[in-house]
Amino acid sequence: MSNVEEIPTEIRCQAEESTGPGVEIITPHRVPLGGSLEVRRTLPRHTRSMIGAWCFADHYGPHDVSAGGGGMNVPPHPHTGLQTVSWLFEGVVEHRDSLGTHALVRPGELNLMTGGHGICHSEVSAPGTAVLHGVQLWVALPDAHRDTPANFEHHTPSLVEIDGAAVRVLLGELAGERSPVPTFSPLLGAELVLPPGARLRLPVDPGHEHGVLVDSGILELAGRPVARGELGFVAAGPTGLELANPTGTDVRVVLLGGAPFTEDIVMWWNFIGRSHDEIAAFREEWQRQSERFGRVEGYSGGPAWLPAPPLPGTRIRPRSRP
Ligand code: MN
Repeated sequence: MSNVEEIPTEIRCQAEESTGPGVEIITPHRVPLGGSLEVRRTLPRHTRSMIGAWCFADHYGPHDVSAGGGGMNVPPHPHTGLQTVSWLFEGVVEHRDSLGTHALVRPGELNLMTGGHGICHSEVSAPGTAVLHGVQLWVALPDAHRDTPANFEHHTPSLVEIDGAAVRVLLGELAGERSPVPTFSPLLGAELVLPPGARLRLPVDPGHEHGVLVDSGILELAGRPVARGELGFVAAGPTGLELANPTGTDVRVVLLGGAPFTEDIVMWWNFIGRSHDEIAAFREEWQRQSERFGRVEGYSGGPAWLPAPPLPGTRIRPRSRP
């Protein structure tokens, strides 16, 4: 998915201090995504810009496509220096990219697009999709790999049970279940559905920081309630995460983890770079449709490509910290 803010702010993400023991609640910021679709963004926020290499988290739906706006329709737009993870709970999204990929993104299936050196793609809700519901996540690539060639991978994780919870491991390893999809930094991504009354202690890498994004219901994370749409953050250190469902209905969450990302990155619109000048150069290449990004074939829902917004008038300043 694209960041379609008309005046995107340039965000400098710096290595962040640990907040000490306990759970930090990140509340979402609502962002319109065109049509009537609105996303709840929990990364980046003023209080936290990354969890491991996870640098962007949009949560949307359940969204009634028939209610107006026509669902999702994002014309071809570029990415650099990052990977996008599309993960749906409901609905189907049609993906096309400049590698020639034409894929249907379905619930329970990981679609991982590596922007790397440069890619562009379009995303449209598939005909017949009545409800859209899912997350769009970005992973920052470390400096050694951020110029890697563009790529698109598809993987259907096995459904495994961990202490009564239904778990799908998208990336990395959790409780002995390992995703075969390679990552460019130590990373964890998983979906968990906790039935009513479930209580589990997930063994995790103490070198990783973690976030739990709640899709439905209310989760107790280390005894702290995390409401729907919120992201509960736990700094590196613990060897286990205590998750409980105190409610009478299923609670679905997305667990993100990773080794704290120690490089300063600059995010603007759909690009990740290391400096204002580099971002400006990516933007200029997109505006003149250079070969870096290629072309999307077969998209017919709107303009052939989405122009970049104007650059901010000021150069990058470090993002203010709490
Ligand atoms: Mn995108």
